[in-house]
Amino acid sequence: MPEGHTLYRLARDLDAAYRGTQPEATSPQGKFAAGAALLSGRTFVHATSWGKHLFAEFDGDACLHVHLGLIGTFTIDEHAYVGEVPVVGQVRLRLATDAHVADLRGPNLCAVITPEQVEAVTARLGPDPLRPDPDPDLAWRGISRSGRTVAELLMDQSVLAGVGNVYRSEVLFRQRIDPFRPGKELRRSSWDAIWLDLVDLLPLGVATGKIVTVAEQVEQVRSELAEGQVDPLTARTSYVYKRQGEPCRVCGSRIRTREVAGRNLFWCGRCQRRR
Ligand SMILES: [Zn+2]
Repeated sequence: MPEGHTLYRLARDLDAAYRGTQPEATSPQGKFAAGAALLSGRTFVHATSWGKHLFAEFDGDACLHVHLGLIGTFTIDEHAYVGEVPVVGQVRLRLATDAHVADLRGPNLCAVITPEQVEAVTARLGPDPLRPDPDPDLAWRGISRSGRTVAELLMDQSVLAGVGNVYRSEVLFRQRIDPFRPGKELRRSSWDAIWLDLVDLLPLGVATGKIVTVAEQVEQVRSELAEGQVDPLTARTSYVYKRQGEPCRVCGSRIRTREVAGRNLFWCGRCQRRR
């Protein structure tokens, strides 16, 4: 499932392609014909993301709300011309100008909503480390009162928005936190460390399009960012994610896995022992 950095990049790219234009909106698949008709010809004002939700604001208080879910994609074809980009697969929504065609396929959710409804959606979401001025205290209030494990809580979008299965496993490893520790037994300093790590790591995901968590790659991408040029990473590496059975990069123990909150959690039983 796309995590928050992917939605952030998507909002940024849609903004760059469509801001100030009046795209023609259609639903080649037909499932979103009424919604597309509502948007078509309106001026695209601004796109933003909050966690895994995308909001594209059009004039006249119409907002496109998209959640990609597990399999959804929203691809932007640059240098395209209307009519010249064939419809491939089940395209729920196409946004077309004479310069760009964007196709949304397989979303979990695609709707036209009002600004009030946008507020109602975001009010139910926890802070997103990529948003301007997010409030980590809000997440801490939810975590510190909960008997659920920190591995479950990090995936709960009403607690913390944007973190998915890869970042949760990797950040808990980076901070050497036992993933099965209940939220109410987590120290405030541990939460602060998780939050600051996410604030630090997510922009690297935005810059590269990949989840960067292993120290050497983090350093590499950081120095490239400082120089203003980020090379595409050839391979994604991780500390624990999808490394079950392989030796921990720090202590050599075998990485373990178990399903938590519907997705496979990965961790090192030795490095992440309860202290
Ligand atoms: Zn280890």
